[in-house]
Amino acid sequence: MPELSTLPAGELAQLHERLRTRYERFRALGLSLDMSRGKPCAEQLDLSNGLFDCVSADDFRAADGTDCRNYGGIEGLPEARVLFGALLGARPEQTIVGGNSSLAMIHDTVARALSHGLPGGEGPWGRLPAVRFLCPCPGYDRHFAIFALFGVEMVPLGIGPHGPDMGAVERLSAEDPLVKGIICVPKYSNPTGVTYSDSTVDRLAAMPTAAPDFRILWDNAYAVHDLTDSPPVLKNVLDACEAAGHPERACVYASTSKVTFAGAGVAAMAAGPHTIARTRKHLSLRTIGPDKVNQLRHVRFLRDMDGVRAHMRLHARILRPKFDAVQQVFESRLGGKGVAGWSRPQGGYFVSLDAAPGCARAVVTMAGHAGVKLTPAGATFPLGRDPQDRNIRIAPTLPPLDEVRRAMEIVALCVELAAVRKLLGEEDLAAL
Ligand code: PLP
Repeated sequence: MPELSTLPAGELAQLHERLRTRYERFRALGLSLDMSRGKPCAEQLDLSNGLFDCVSADDFRAADGTDCRNYGGIEGLPEARVLFGALLGARPEQTIVGGNSSLAMIHDTVARALSHGLPGGEGPWGRLPAVRFLCPCPGYDRHFAIFALFGVEMVPLGIGPHGPDMGAVERLSAEDPLVKGIICVPKYSNPTGVTYSDSTVDRLAAMPTAAPDFRILWDNAYAVHDLTDSPPVLKNVLDACEAAGHPERACVYASTSKVTFAGAGVAAMAAGPHTIARTRKHLSLRTIGPDKVNQLRHVRFLRDMDGVRAHMRLHARILRPKFDAVQQVFESRLGGKGVAGWSRPQGGYFVSLDAAPGCARAVVTMAGHAGVKLTPAGATFPLGRDPQDRNIRIAPTLPPLDEVRRAMEIVALCVELAAVRKLLGEEDLAAL
């Protein structure tokens, strides 16, 4: 297939008509397909139904005899701190096991930093004239929403195959004391699927920062979400920071939202000793204790990291065909046409699709009219502003395989159609 930009105008116009006819045929089907959010499908949730049998009316005590039905244990059950410490790459004593959401823990870290400051700093960030965070893009929309909520200025940075643009990260962190940190999804990054290289982790850990209380918010949401048998290995950021003499720099988060039940899982965080002590103190004012029944259930169900990995292989068996279907459709419909690029992730929950510049909004609108709901264009950038209007996040996990295939056919068609309309000089790319 020749690149579309090399086609003579007449051929382009004919192609436009053919694509439009196909699009109208899809539209007439009145489909309703949702590819907008990274949710596990019901078959994945079924894998964890054993959780319902892990505690009972006469079996609700932790290993040390703790009655899990009662208040207390602010930092989590001891056995949960061991399991989640292993997941986070942390010692149990630097691990706090909390409620159901790692995003809530990240939100609370930012809120606490603004209201009270963080160990190593000079008081509440909220008293400063501005607070800035480095945001590798495309990134996770809900991270950006937290920063927007609190008025934290987001500094967008590029992300490549090895992680964020480290030259820019090092320069901005060293120059500007109001740059208080960077938000990272270091493994199978949402949505690019990138896993940070060892060198990226080492540079983040070691770089000089103008802010003494600079933090790396390390959202390792996809730590164990491999789709292949030889997954990339992410370097331990807590160890790297400690080795570089910055033991308080990294705050690491994860949860079982996409391991067991999304919304009824368990979340955890780990950080340097002073940061964890401060977090524990604040947490004890915020809650009298986490849901230890759920923590106990999870430890009994998952047991240890071998148990977690075996469980994740069952997820991969369900998800791999869906991710393969996305690749097959994009390759066959868009390959060689010069109108799109896309990621080929080895894990995680997303495929990142780059349409031709200026086309993403039109693609999402057209796909919506044909019954395919996508994450809004721009969502992968701070404040919803994709400067090139080209990135679209594809979430193939929730719908059944045949729906994924059909939805991707429609998305690929819309990508090509928008590109052809742009080449033809149409003003409103989505006005069919
Ligand atoms: N972090 C990332 C990068 C995610 O992609 C998601 C969900 O999509 C979350 C956090 C949400 O995690 P939780 O359910 O633990 O709040």
